[in-house]
Amino acid sequence: MKRQRVLVWFRQDLRLHDNEALTDALKSGIEVIPIYVFDERVFKGKTQFDFPKTAKFRAKFILESVEDLRASLRSLGSELIVRVGKPEDEIYKIAQQVKSSWVFCNRERTREEVAVQDALERNLWSIGQEVIFSRGKMLYYTQDLPFPVTHTPDAFTQFKKEVERIVPVREPLPAPTAADFNPLTIELEAGEMPELKDFGWEAFTTDDRSAFEFVGGETEGLARLQHFVWEAERLQNYKTTCSGLMGEDYSSKFSAWLSQGCLSPKMIYQELKKYEQETGANKSSYHLFLELLWRDFYRLMGKKYDELIFQKGGIKGEVDERWKDDYRLLQLWKEGRTGVPFIDANMKELLHTGFMSNRGRQNVASFLVKDLNVNWQMGASYFESMLIDYDPCSNWGNWNYIAGVDSDPRDDRYLNILVQAKRFDPKGEYVKRWLPELVDVPVNKIHRPDTLTVEEQTASQIKIGASYPKAMVNTRRWA
Ligand SMILES: Cc1cc2nc3c(=O)[nH]c(=O)nc-3n(C[C@H](O)[C@H](O)[C@H](O)COP(=O)(O)OP(=O)(O)OC[C@H]3O[C@@H](n4cnc5c(N)ncnc54)[C@H](O)[C@@H]3O)c2cc1C
Repeated sequence: MKRQRVLVWFRQDLRLHDNEALTDALKSGIEVIPIYVFDERVFKGKTQFDFPKTAKFRAKFILESVEDLRASLRSLGSELIVRVGKPEDEIYKIAQQVKSSWVFCNRERTREEVAVQDALERNLWSIGQEVIFSRGKMLYYTQDLPFPVTHTPDAFTQFKKEVERIVPVREPLPAPTAADFNPLTIELEAGEMPELKDFGWEAFTTDDRSAFEFVGGETEGLARLQHFVWEAERLQNYKTTCSGLMGEDYSSKFSAWLSQGCLSPKMIYQELKKYEQETGANKSSYHLFLELLWRDFYRLMGKKYDELIFQKGGIKGEVDERWKDDYRLLQLWKEGRTGVPFIDANMKELLHTGFMSNRGRQNVASFLVKDLNVNWQMGASYFESMLIDYDPCSNWGNWNYIAGVDSDPRDDRYLNILVQAKRFDPKGEYVKRWLPELVDVPVNKIHRPDTLTVEEQTASQIKIGASYPKAMVNTRRWA
């Protein structure tokens, strides 16, 4: 039997399409009240190592996403109730006020998100109400997997082997229409949208060196999917371009929309399959599927190992004694002042845009952990703050992997930064974009300006140690 009134709490699922909590709420309640709470701990708090929990790029992206969701709900005759505070308090107050029966939400699995949903559940129990949890964050449903979550293979290749051919990806759920919403019979203040300055940030525009302008929201996410698959036809050569560093379309850029749930992975999969039906499957379309599988894999590792993915010893429980909480080294890394151009260019891109390519992330992470011996948690914590596409499982899972504290038996993920730089930025174009002080350095020395002679420095209008820093590690280790 339908309940008179139910709430639906939007979290990292800021979309109407393929939204299980919203779909369940609409099936269960006569009046459905959608809510979003800007959690003050997330928007104003600090990370473990004292970085702003959500730096300006992601804060802006989320504001845009919530705004877009509100506009979409309004176009269906509904409303998105917006509050700033603690979700467990704000939603509890609304539930009490409107005398709802249940609160629907898509379940989160990482420690901070779980603490909030548990606190809300406890508050609701005190007034005889319940949280009803739904799913749908991954490509796969855990109940469709051929193993229990706790037996998920620890190596990606094994995981892939066990799922890819036999586990079906379910169809995405359709977005609701205006006919699915009944008008509310109770007055409820909609609440004003906060602004960036309410979270301590000045308004800003995208850096013009940026490869890509991310705009939050389901509308933009779906448009990006359309562009990438159909207009730009990137599935023709994605496999060869996805390790790139520069440009709008070398990779999909779906990550920010996926992280806030503006795009559903099942929706991406459906488009990918449609494309394959029209043009035939190819290595690139399969490769995008594999990338989405990595995302599921890290989510499952988060479920399986819970708190361990955030611990210094990781899943393995092994702490390398050389890893130090060295704030001085960390600062140089963060600011892109290591004297290693490939690292500095990537860190500058992150600092000025909130984004970095996958290739860049692997290199800067390896450099921090393996060359500088800095505690990897500090790097992960900085990424948590800065990344426009931060996702707890993907971020901490990838850092686990690079630090070698995951449970994959393969050892030594050391990256030779010079080899990587020459391979992925052979002409130094990427480096020169983010480090204009190196623009006149000849190509053969662009990745090792520390080897420029005094005469060459003069000719390149640069002084090592003054206008560009001396390398903080002995770069001969990579030669
Ligand atoms: C140290 C480190 C930290 C990272 N932190 C995050 C993070 O916080 N959030 C995040 O979404 N990704 C993270 N990644 C994974 C990856 O770098 C980004 O997903 C990717 O660069 C985003 O760009 P894209 O959307 O164009 O990716 P594409 O290359 O086009 O891939 C398509 C999608 O597949 C998924 N994907 C691809 N590679 C990975 C991967 N290695 N792990 C998990 N999912 C993957 C992403 O959802 C991505 O959007 C991290 C990687 C490293 C090495």
